[in-house]
Amino acid sequence: MKFKDIEIRKNKNRKKISFEISSHGDIIIKAPERCSKKYLKKIYEENYDSIIEKYNLLKNDRNLLKLDTGFNIPYRGGQLTIEIRIAKGNYEINNQKLILNVGKHDKELIREKFIEFLRSETGKAVRALVDEYSDFFEDKINNIKIKKQEKRWGSCSSRGNLNFNYDLILMEEEFIRYVVVHELCHLYEMNHSSKFWALLQEFIPDYKMYRNIRKSVFY
Ligand SMILES: [Zn+2]
Repeated sequence: MKFKDIEIRKNKNRKKISFEISSHGDIIIKAPERCSKKYLKKIYEENYDSIIEKYNLLKNDRNLLKLDTGFNIPYRGGQLTIEIRIAKGNYEINNQKLILNVGKHDKELIREKFIEFLRSETGKAVRALVDEYSDFFEDKINNIKIKKQEKRWGSCSSRGNLNFNYDLILMEEEFIRYVVVHELCHLYEMNHSSKFWALLQEFIPDYKMYRNIRKSVFY
């Protein structure tokens, strides 16, 4: 991977340089504020072999999706087979197929359309669940957003704004429910106190099995 494709994140509190792989499979260099780009490039080149080795290992380990015709993606506990069509229009879900209509066979366009699918389908699933629990939570909700979130499935602010990760639709139905109800419960308890978990347990008795599920699918 070329140095120019790598994201550099500087932070004044950071003391050491580290190389990480983002959930989308990009290499990120985390470095102290004072490190120059030139210096980071040199360190990167010196460590190139070991970084790439770690990168490949992680990529294999993380179930990297291939966004092209004939490949499967997980979807709400089942799966869909991708079909790329050179056509106008949005995406379609039909007969266990995810049809991505794109202007031309271009990796970036396909990815954009795929993200449109994630965002829109996650939005529908989240809103349906929120409706289901509306008797209890509706008055407290201000706004719901579906967006890219690197490290979290969802978040909730004291003003009643809920955010959800657009990758949720790739997960199992019951897990999506857990994440939505978890954030809804924060509307009453803005912490992870025992009161919070007790409230969550009222809605999801077996919530413990979902607590530590991390993302395992990347694209
Ligand atoms: Zn929480």
